[in-house]
Amino acid sequence: MAVLVTGGAGYIGSHTVAALRERGEEIIIVDNMQQGHQEALLAGKLYKGDLRDSDFMDVVFGENRIDAVIHFAANSLVGESMKEPGKYYHNNVYGTLCLLEKMKQYNVGSIVFSSTAATYGEPENVPIDEYDRTLPTNAYGETKLAMEKMMKWYDVAHGIKYISLRYFNAAGAHESGAIGEDHSPETHLIPIVLEAALGKRPHISVFGEDYDTPDGTCIRDYIHVSDLADAHVLAVERLRGGADSSVYNLGNGKGFSVKEVIDIARSVTGRDIPAVMEPRRAGDPAVLVASSERARKELGWSPSRNTLEQIIASAWQWHSAHPEGYRK
Ligand code: UDP
Repeated sequence: MAVLVTGGAGYIGSHTVAALRERGEEIIIVDNMQQGHQEALLAGKLYKGDLRDSDFMDVVFGENRIDAVIHFAANSLVGESMKEPGKYYHNNVYGTLCLLEKMKQYNVGSIVFSSTAATYGEPENVPIDEYDRTLPTNAYGETKLAMEKMMKWYDVAHGIKYISLRYFNAAGAHESGAIGEDHSPETHLIPIVLEAALGKRPHISVFGEDYDTPDGTCIRDYIHVSDLADAHVLAVERLRGGADSSVYNLGNGKGFSVKEVIDIARSVTGRDIPAVMEPRRAGDPAVLVASSERARKELGWSPSRNTLEQIIASAWQWHSAHPEGYRK
């Protein structure tokens, strides 16, 4: 039986495809190539198309024996979601509805979902656990929460089991150096800091220095993309073993401020990285740090590339060798 990976040619998707390959899984990939890169695929059979295209998805499910889905395909930028919420509702929420309908039609009973800490919004407790309040502060997080809720009701009505993985901040690159992060446009902190280190940008803009944190900049929990990938493989195995639906946070449990990230990047790269203070970016909570105890206990997950130096060094290996991303 095969695993269908939607959005498998994207950043976290392609690292998960690499992890599935290591387990000897048969892999089918659906990607509309909006953010995906064919060169990022180290394994699997790629179908280029969109989840919202019913005839296309009939071909994918009709031609393969799929027993589990890992669902990444979505737009995922906080800032953009505040300007174009309709794009997020259409691609993320409606796209997931189309996917769940196809799973129902083709009797596929397991889905692992790429969710986010943005479902919590401004947290009540730090670190955040899965029982904490979900009150998103941005449209991106709201759509991911809507997708989770949709899966819950498809489980109740149709028995489709889901594991939702709420990631904190994915970063780093595959240890082989063959694949890494390449978004266009890039909006994430670590790749932008490394582009500034390479001289591809004049400086890094720090969005807000007036948050209620020790140095005034936002605190995030950075987690290595290959550790995230491993959690997806464990989640597929758990669902295949007959487990019930559940939600897990994935993070390291330690937060770093924007200024701390820049300082560590300066020391890892040995480069001068100029920083310029700018106003807050809409939709950003001050502090997001995970409690991943539940994933450790129930999934047997334990992140192994967990210092921020290690994470940034692996990203630097990729960015310095591929300054133009997959284009070179
Ligand atoms: N950030 C920043 N400058 C940038 C990009 C991001 O100061 O050029 C900040 C952003 O405001 C947030 C943190 O870095 O506080 C992480 O942002 P990112 O977009 O990487 O991830 P998010 O937390 O939004 O998923």
